[in-house]
Amino acid sequence: MTKALVLLSGGLDSRLVIKILQEQNIKITALHFLLPFSGCCKPDCVFNFAQLQNVPLKIIDCRKGKNFDEYIKLIKKPKYGYGSGTNPCIDCRIFMLKKAKEFLEKEKTDFIATGEVLGERPMSQYKKAMKLAEKEAGLEGRILRPLSAKLLPETEVERKGLVNRDKLLAISGRSRKEQIALAEKYKISYPSPAGGCLLCEKAFASRLKDLFEYKKKIKPRDIELLKYGRHFRLGKSKIVVGRNKEENQAILKLKNKSDYVFEVPNVGSPITLLQGKITKSAIEIAARITARYSDETSTIVKVCYGKGELNKNIKVVKLDEESLNKIRL
Ligand code: SF4
Repeated sequence: MTKALVLLSGGLDSRLVIKILQEQNIKITALHFLLPFSGCCKPDCVFNFAQLQNVPLKIIDCRKGKNFDEYIKLIKKPKYGYGSGTNPCIDCRIFMLKKAKEFLEKEKTDFIATGEVLGERPMSQYKKAMKLAEKEAGLEGRILRPLSAKLLPETEVERKGLVNRDKLLAISGRSRKEQIALAEKYKISYPSPAGGCLLCEKAFASRLKDLFEYKKKIKPRDIELLKYGRHFRLGKSKIVVGRNKEENQAILKLKNKSDYVFEVPNVGSPITLLQGKITKSAIEIAARITARYSDETSTIVKVCYGKGELNKNIKVVKLDEESLNKIRL
C-alpha cells in the first residue's frame, strides 16, 4: 500500500489533500508544525480533524528547544530573503521539508504531499520557488501537490504509478472558490484563513527586527511577548504596555525576574514591563507611559513599580503623544 506524509497546516488546502489522497486508497500520516509565529489553526483543531479522518498525526514543536533555536536562526538570516514582512517563506518551507524528510526516511513513507497551490502565495508558491525548496531539501520528485499537480511537471511519485495523476487537480491562484466547493463536497469544516503568520505583518516585523538587534540569545518567551501590548524602545531599554486585562495578564506571565513592573493604583491601568537596561530615566519614562494609558485624570499621577512587589512609587506627568510616537515600535 502506498504511504504518504501530508504536511497538515490545518488550513483548508492541506485538509483537502488528505481527502483527495484517501480517495486513492493511500495510507496517510499527517505532520503538523507548531511554529512560533503562526497560529491560524489551533493544535486541538488540527488534532480533531486528523482524528475525524482516521489519520495518525505527528507534531513537530518548533516553539521551544533545538527546533526553536534552529527556526530563529533562519528567520534572522534567511538565505532566500524576506517577503513583505520578516517572512522568509522559501527558507521556512525548506526547513519544514527537511524535517519532513527525516520523518519520511524513518517511517519508510513513499512521498510527501502538501496543500500548496500554484500562485496562491506570492513568495513560496510559484514554480521556481517550489522547485528550489524541493532541491534544497533533497526531495526532488518526491513532493506531490495534489491541488495543482496537473499544472506542474509530473513527479516521480506519479511516474511510478503511486498516485493516479488523472485524479489530481489543476487549481491555481488566490481565489479559493474551487477549494470551498471541494470542502462542501467532502463535508469538511475548516478555520477561516485570517490569523496566519505574524511574520507577514509589517507592524510585527519592526518589533522582531528590534529584538534581533538588541538581544543575542532569543528565548521563546521573548517571541511570545512580541505578540502582546504596545512596544517602545528607549536606547537599551524596552517598554511593553498591556492594552487590556488579557494582555496585562499575559505580560505578567512573560515577565523575567530582572524586569520591572509598573501600574497606576486604584484606577484602570495597564501593566507595563521595563526590560533591558534599568536607568532612572527609563523608570521615569515607563511610569509616564503607564500613566498615559491609565484612567487616572489628575495631572500628576502616582505610579507604583518594582521587580517583584510594586513597593516603590514615582509621581509623574503623562507622556505626550509626540514623544510616545518617537519611541514606538
Ligand atoms: S507564511 Fe512563510 S514564513 Fe510564515 S509559516 Fe508560512 S511559509 Fe513560513
